[in-house]
Amino acid sequence: MASFNGVPVRVPDHPIVPFIEGDGTGRDIWKASVRVFDAAVEKAYQGKRSVTWYEVFAGEKAKARFQNWLPDDTISAIREFRVAIKGPLTTPVGGGIRSLNVALRQILDLYCCVRPVKYYAGVPSPVKHPERMNIVIFRENTEDVYAGIEWEEGTSDAKRLIEFLNKDMLKGGKKQIRLDSGIGIKPMSVTGTKRLVRMAIQHALDNKNKAVTLVHKGNIQKFTEGAFRKWGYELATEEFRAHVVTERESWVIDNKDKNPGLTVEENANLIEPGLEFATDDFRRDLYKEVKDCLDCIYATHGKGAWKKKLMINDRIADSIFQQVVTRADEYSVLATPNLNGDYISDACAAQVGGLGIAPGANIGDGYAIFEATHGTAPKYADKDVINPGSVILSGVMMFRHLGWTEAADLIEQSLERTIEQKKVTYDFERLMEGATKVKTSEFATCMIENMGVAVAAD
Ligand code: NAP
Repeated sequence: MASFNGVPVRVPDHPIVPFIEGDGTGRDIWKASVRVFDAAVEKAYQGKRSVTWYEVFAGEKAKARFQNWLPDDTISAIREFRVAIKGPLTTPVGGGIRSLNVALRQILDLYCCVRPVKYYAGVPSPVKHPERMNIVIFRENTEDVYAGIEWEEGTSDAKRLIEFLNKDMLKGGKKQIRLDSGIGIKPMSVTGTKRLVRMAIQHALDNKNKAVTLVHKGNIQKFTEGAFRKWGYELATEEFRAHVVTERESWVIDNKDKNPGLTVEENANLIEPGLEFATDDFRRDLYKEVKDCLDCIYATHGKGAWKKKLMINDRIADSIFQQVVTRADEYSVLATPNLNGDYISDACAAQVGGLGIAPGANIGDGYAIFEATHGTAPKYADKDVINPGSVILSGVMMFRHLGWTEAADLIEQSLERTIEQKKVTYDFERLMEGATKVKTSEFATCMIENMGVAVAAD
């Protein structure tokens, strides 16, 4: 049984799955990937399950055939079949569309970008302990500076907005905006944040992860990034109360577990050392927080029970960049606003093999597109050299989403085995000693053979 954000979905044994081949290297990658997918499904289910791949068009192929970069039929097919997989798409230059990928996400309201980052043995890595990284990043996909609300420096709109801000909103204060500025708007909403954090927590509970970390820059941008943190905790404690404990709650409960006679005031002093120097208001608020926590959840979470709950904590964005390098194993699920998520996803991926094997999915309530996170790499197009790993692992995510765990496991195991055998595409071969460089198609063949499936000669 598959599920969309905790809502169960029945998957037929022989589903139709739309695919967008993708531009540039997408063509080679798709040809290789689909062979791997079919071999894994056949091996895992012996005909009891199969996928009918249904090509839908976007990008250059759609433009050439239908004079349309993103035909409505493509959107309708994804709506009809709910789950799709795609290769990379060219961003049309001067086509009136900023990016086809962004357009797809917006039209289908795929509000969450999911990027699992995991180490496969043998993959070349720039860090000493890449095996410590096993993190899934949930990045908000629709808001933040990506909302695309901005005005170019020097335009009359930019001038009008700056004037309004300087003369009205900022009147009488110390801050003024320079007249030669461009302006961008960074909206972040309760709705956008809570549905993203809900999906991250549901995933963590489904997969028995130990923590969900809210990543934000709330120390500087209080009403956007800081609010993301606040709304994230609110969502966690309102909707998942029985299953979660926040980091601060865990301190309060642990203090009481270790010393049951502790008063609220003594407990608060352990949480905030130096409390005697704080203002009365601060002290009063903290006492209330400690008392409320104990009244509300000590009965259910106390006496060590909190250790079995999902931990909800938060980290400032700059510190998480250090943490994922130095202590990656302390993190399992990150929930992030749009821009921070963009950076941290690639920073994490770089530790475990980079773009060539970085899978992703864009998921909403009811629809999901699984996709390569890299671009079309046009200089390698149709040369049969590129690493198909990103789309292959996006397929693994798709099969897991459908509940086809056996096929997903087979693909992951065969990918790992093939890399351990040092049969790799150019991007890995140049970083590995004693590796054999194989073509995109040959990599797929090696993977299929490693599943124990015979490969017919061409
Ligand atoms: P790119 O296509 O991602 O390629 C940049 C470099 O990344 C390549 O030259 C290659 O590096 C490496 N790379 C990319 N895919 C790889 C793979 N499968 N295996 C191994 N290495 C890989 O980025 P770009 O050249 O900036 O963008 C090209 C086009 O793609 C643009 O039109 C852009 O808008 C579009 N794009 C689409 C998506 C998407 O569809 N999701 C995402 C990003 C960009 P080396 O040359 O060093 O080997």
